[in-house]
Parts: sequence; C-alpha cells; structure tokens
Amino acid sequence: MGRRLGAAAAVLTAVAVVASQAGAGSAVAGTGCFDRAREPYTSQVDSHLHFRPFGGQAIPFEELTGYLHKSGVRHASMYGIGQTLPTNSNCMYYLDCPGTPVVPSMKNDFANAENYVETHPKDPELTVSMTFMDLNHPETIPPGITVYDKEYPGVFRWAGEVNLVKQALFPNHHTPATSENIKNWAPFMKVLRDRGIPITIHSDLGSDADQTKYLHLMEETLRLYPENKLVWAHMGLSKELTAMDPDRHIGIMTRLLDENPNLTLDLSWRVLEDNYFSRPGARQKYAAFLDRYPTRAIPGTDFVASRDKDYGVYEQELEVTSRINTALDDRAFRDIALGENYYRLLGLKESAPKLCRAE
Ligand SMILES: [Zn+2]
Repeated sequence: MGRRLGAAAAVLTAVAVVASQAGAGSAVAGTGCFDRAREPYTSQVDSHLHFRPFGGQAIPFEELTGYLHKSGVRHASMYGIGQTLPTNSNCMYYLDCPGTPVVPSMKNDFANAENYVETHPKDPELTVSMTFMDLNHPETIPPGITVYDKEYPGVFRWAGEVNLVKQALFPNHHTPATSENIKNWAPFMKVLRDRGIPITIHSDLGSDADQTKYLHLMEETLRLYPENKLVWAHMGLSKELTAMDPDRHIGIMTRLLDENPNLTLDLSWRVLEDNYFSRPGARQKYAAFLDRYPTRAIPGTDFVASRDKDYGVYEQELEVTSRINTALDDRAFRDIALGENYYRLLGLKESAPKLCRAE
C-alpha cells in the first residue's frame, strides 16, 4: 500500500511542480485534468492537522511541511492542540496520564504562528488556527483574540479544534461546556462571523451506552449561531461511540445539514474508517450520503505531530482517512478530496483541479 501511494504521490508532486510554475492560485487548472484512474485517491487538503503535540517534543515544522509536500497535500490547517499537558509532565499523550489536568493554551498557537510568519510556505499552503479557546471559560476568549491581533495581525484564519465535549478527556478534568457557557460564546462567535473564520468544534455525540447523550449541546450551538461557519469534528464520532448504527448516524447528520446551511462535517480521524466506513455495507451508505451533500464535508487526518512519529505514520493516516474517497462520485470527490469545499469555506481564490471525465 505504501509503495503504491508513494508512486502515485510522485506523479502528483510532478503535477504540482508544473502547476506552481503556472503561477500561484492557478492550481492544476489549465495544465490538465485530474484523472481518478491514474492519480492518488488521497485527499489534497488536510483540514485537521495538529502541528503541536499534547506534550513533549513536536516534529520540527520544516520536517512536517515536507511530509505534506511529499504526500501530495497542497493545503493544510495548522492546528495547535486543544488540550496541553503541564510543562512539568512527562506525558506525550493525555490518555497515559489520567488525573493530570489538560487545558487549552496559547503557547502552541504562538509556536505555529511564529513558524508560519518566518517561512510563509507556499507548497503546501497553510492556514493558521486559534486553538487556545476554552469553551468553558468564554469570557477569556475575546481578550485572547486581542492579544493574537496585536502579535500576529491577520495571521489566524481558522479556529479550533476546540472542545465542547470530549469524553476521552474526562479523566483529565475536562467537563462538557454547559448551556450557559454556550450562550456566553456570543461575543467571540461574532468576531469569527465578522471575519468569516470557520470554527472546528469537537463535540461527541455520545457513548455506546448512551449514543446521543450530548447531541443537544451541538444542537444548541447550531440554534444559537446559525450564521457561523461551524465545522463538526469527526461527525461527532469517537472511540467512545463505536457501535452506532450507520443509518441512525447518517439520519442525524442529514437532519442537521438540512436544518443548518452553514454546518460542515469534518471527516478526519482514522477512527471513522476503522469503526464505521470499513464495516460491511457502511462505506456505500456513507458515500451515498456524501454524494447527496457533496458541498458539506471536508477531509483531514487528525495527525498529531509528536516527535515519536515519522513520515510513515503521516502517510498511513492520510491513506486510511482517504479510503472513503474511493467510493465517492466525481462531484463529491472533487469537492471533498480535492479541496473545493475547503477552499470555498476559507474564501480562497484557489480551486480544486477539474476531473478529466466529469461535468
Ligand atoms: Zn483533532
């Protein structure tokens, strides 16, 4: 699998080189079409990529952007991490250290912004994200944005991934945001709206014991902030919810997409492929769903750049999270895998390559 992807990525890189000679923004358009039969099915954008780890050392910035370039990812969102371990902790992963509190922090956003302004990479292009937002303490968010505006004006064009409710963090003192908290998001949600900044929210649907236990929190968010560009991380799925009937899950997603025109689904994290898309019959169901809503989803790996990982891990997570692409029709493939939805959500002029036989 790795070698096939590698060879395909090499073809793609060659295409990208030609494209970049044609000038920034022109993408592959004009230099040829994208042939699904010959070119990789791996996504060309990674909308959900944590450049900073929970704790410990990060993969150096230039090494990580090298991974993206090599694997044919042309644009990525540069997330910090919504839960950092204390600097005096030896943990690299919060699950290894129950009882150790984890909290959002500005530190990793600043590290990302610093790397970004120093290098301004063009291939891949990057979108720097504010990850510091503590949704349980919304009064701290507008002053935080003011600090970012002063230190890095215009640099932050995404928000998240932020945690509304993340069951995996419960042993580390995380509690779900309350209805009261959500109401008090109004000032910072207005800032995001005014700037057209999307926000990726991690909000678990529920657990295997109670599959829609937390659905009401996302519904409340959607009801209060219908004009915000909300991105629902992992479609609400998680390691705590592995047994939901795909029909039931797709039914909930369908209803919420219909009711909320500004909602986008984030397909990141290999947990989706491992626990849902790869089940017998499920891939066809999810693909048919995405074919019906081709403009409403964006891809991502949810890779976390801790130093114990290397290119092989990124390549594998990109491949696994991209398998759903193989089942999409041409329209959904271009909109989702080739990045059209991502570019539009960000208001970029860039567009995805056209497919050879489609349209
Ligand atoms: Zn994530």
